[in-house]
Amino acid sequence: MCGDGELRTEPIPERVLTRRRLFLAAAAGAVMTGGVAAAEGGFDQLRGDGLATARKRAERLATPDRRRWEAHRIGTSVEGRPIVAHRTVRPDSRKSVLVVAAVHGDERGVAPVGVELTTVPIPTGIDAWIVPVANPDGWARGSRNNARDVDLNRNFPWWWTRADGGPTPASEPETQALMTLVEQLRPTVTVWIHQPYEYVSAVDPSVEHLARAWAGAAGLAYEPPIAQHGGGETWTYKTMRLPSILVEGTTRDTSADETSAHRRGFEALLAAL
Ligand SMILES: [Zn+2]
Repeated sequence: MCGDGELRTEPIPERVLTRRRLFLAAAAGAVMTGGVAAAEGGFDQLRGDGLATARKRAERLATPDRRRWEAHRIGTSVEGRPIVAHRTVRPDSRKSVLVVAAVHGDERGVAPVGVELTTVPIPTGIDAWIVPVANPDGWARGSRNNARDVDLNRNFPWWWTRADGGPTPASEPETQALMTLVEQLRPTVTVWIHQPYEYVSAVDPSVEHLARAWAGAAGLAYEPPIAQHGGGETWTYKTMRLPSILVEGTTRDTSADETSAHRRGFEALLAAL
């Protein structure tokens, strides 16, 4: 398992995945925001309860009215802040959606959007993962870049350049945490939320319908596929060959309108997934 409290970097074997699903389900009843450490505690509890009890809990939690969100620490920032992903506990899901927000710490409306999305009811069969603050050090200081002054959305290893991408490709722990999450989950679609350019783009043309669903519900324009050197949304599709969408909100500020617009966008994407 992840004894160091962070996700593994190598592919997880199916038997381990099954065990992980069971212990997450067992932990979910008591753990809402305790993160991986608490989830590991749930694993200990699972051993004591036995597999049959855990299976029953997993089945119970798989029903829509017992849906839960859990917090997972997926990495640690340069200054030691946790990078947290919230996920629904859906051991039986065939599809997954990952939303990454606040890669840039000065886009102040984005993290509240991420938090809002963790209150959206997720349809049966879809496992949702939300990272509200991908750059916690930048968020804490209100800066675009991380604590080493690297623009994380130029640091991904797709057409990386030393001109603006940091010392080496994927040099930053925040970048590495997001890459590991994408590599392990292989989401059905990943949505990267930024501000303030007022459009939605399907980086992967195969998910244009999902990007258009979000754009239409949020009142944003749809733009043809973009490609950003060193960008997380572009690396997800161009390197990992996984569907990816870029959402650009309307301002750099927080507003109730912005938050509710993206909630509608997320709900529309889920309905179209
Ligand atoms: Zn941005």
